Amino acid sequence: LNHSPFTLFTHSSSSPPTRLRLPRIDAAAATTFYHHRRKDKVVVIMGATGSGKSRLSVDLATLFFPFSEILNSDKMQVYSGLDITTNKIPLHQRRGVTHHLLGDVNPDAGEFSPSDFRHRAGDIISDITSRRKLPIIVGGSNSFIHALLVERFDPELNVFDAESLSTPTSSSSPVISSELRYNCCFLWVDVSFPVLSEYLIKRVDDMLDSGMVDELAQFFDPHAIEEMNRTGLRKAIGVPELDRYFKEYPPGSGEEEDRVRKGAYKEAVRAIKDNTCQLAKRQIEKILRLKRAGWNLQRIDATDAFRAALTLDDRWSDIWERQVLEPSVNNLNRFLMD
Ligand code: ATP
Repeated sequence: LNHSPFTLFTHSSSSPPTRLRLPRIDAAAATTFYHHRRKDKVVVIMGATGSGKSRLSVDLATLFFPFSEILNSDKMQVYSGLDITTNKIPLHQRRGVTHHLLGDVNPDAGEFSPSDFRHRAGDIISDITSRRKLPIIVGGSNSFIHALLVERFDPELNVFDAESLSTPTSSSSPVISSELRYNCCFLWVDVSFPVLSEYLIKRVDDMLDSGMVDELAQFFDPHAIEEMNRTGLRKAIGVPELDRYFKEYPPGSGEEEDRVRKGAYKEAVRAIKDNTCQLAKRQIEKILRLKRAGWNLQRIDATDAFRAALTLDDRWSDIWERQVLEPSVNNLNRFLMD
């Protein structure tokens, strides 16, 4: 497994946060509210890929242990397989917290749609709250989060279609409803884009060092037609980019270093880095859209912690606890007591 500070940063380290004295989350008091409430309470951690959502979710669940469970809302991480490529939080970093819909869906059973997510995740939330625990929803797929949370969901309407994203004020863009079926505490982990992109580029290098190419070589299907790369797990960043490379240089076809081969590999890596940064940008645009539509997203700025991690400054985890975890805990406490 990868021990670089970059991976350690977004995925929680295996020890719980201890450096700061944090306000306690009063789990017992909070859970007694559930039966008197009309709507179930859920926490939703949003943010672009790489912004530290998984780390924050496990940090919060640890403080709240054993009164919360995590529900994944990343559309690639719902599938089994490609754990490195899709950046699933490794088991040992989950600190014993139950994770739902993380690697549970068979990728060969067709595309898992926002509508499927609404139903499956909705059932999981009912189950968690029936056991008087708090669901923490975490993941970067805003179409999944939207589908799950809105009071009325129309599977035919893509509120985030590319056209409406590029023209945010267009009168033809579908209106996003702010009527939600749960009582939500939204925590949006934000990192300034230049800092996030620098981090994402390093993260791709870390993923490659951790065995991403081997993972994708095993996933490679030489007989796959182009169409297949447009559904489900095959859309994960890394699959189409390395498929192009493997078509030229099939896995296991001699590893001799030739210049052309090296160039093709470098080109695939560059495309993965570019596409990851583009994904982060689009995710931030979608979050801003939800905010403009009236979703009460509380923005938490993690830029300083990322800057410190990028310069290998040991203080990054103190900064994280002070600037990200502490405000999140305060927000959560207020929400639970409300
Ligand atoms: P869209 O409406 O565009 O599908 P979304 O909000 O539903 O967006 P995103 O999480 O932004 O979902 O994913 C969009 C695309 O980004 C995916 O189809 C995939 O190509 C890529 N992607 C997203 N998450 C991952 C991941 N964890 N690993 C690899 N690629 C990912």
